[in-house]
Amino acid sequence: MRDLAHRPGEMREHSLDIAVPDALGAGVIAVREGAPLHIDLRLEGLHEGVLVSGHASADATGECSRCLIDISEPVEVDFAELFAYDASEDFDFFVRDDHVDCEQVVRDAVVLALPFQPVCRPDCPGLDPVTGERLADLDEQPVHETLDPRWAALTGIQLEAAERAAHGDTTDTKTTEGEERAEAE
Ligand SMILES: [Zn+2]
Repeated sequence: MRDLAHRPGEMREHSLDIAVPDALGAGVIAVREGAPLHIDLRLEGLHEGVLVSGHASADATGECSRCLIDISEPVEVDFAELFAYDASEDFDFFVRDDHVDCEQVVRDAVVLALPFQPVCRPDCPGLDPVTGERLADLDEQPVHETLDPRWAALTGIQLEAAERAAHGDTTDTKTTEGEERAEAE
């Protein structure tokens, strides 16, 4: 960018396709090492430095934070940072030897754009707390209702009745709820 340095008003645009040298992100979802990263970069000469702005896109892969299935989702992010000529200025980035090192800028932007709790779909029901099965795989069956402990006694009676029926007990299992309660007492 030698031709750009110290020339306010000059502008250069670049388009880059690179393989990510180090994974971007360390959470449950990240742009993995070697994944393709597309960057549209614009360098603009200003009086105090070079304004680097652009857009980065890549695919992040990881796991759904609810059901742990493998997922992949696109990450699209815009970034803009001024690289100052004067290292004494109050900026985070500086032009060094007529170069701007955009890696950190792109890296920070992509990592910040990663979802904190990625999901395979917005309404992912997660895992069954009892069986550990992925609820979304259960063909949209209603989520198992958590048994109200107040009904637990009744469930026990129903099981007993079913067991008796299975063992050939002739006790009428089609008792009404009231009768079952009486029987339980
Ligand atoms: Zn999920």
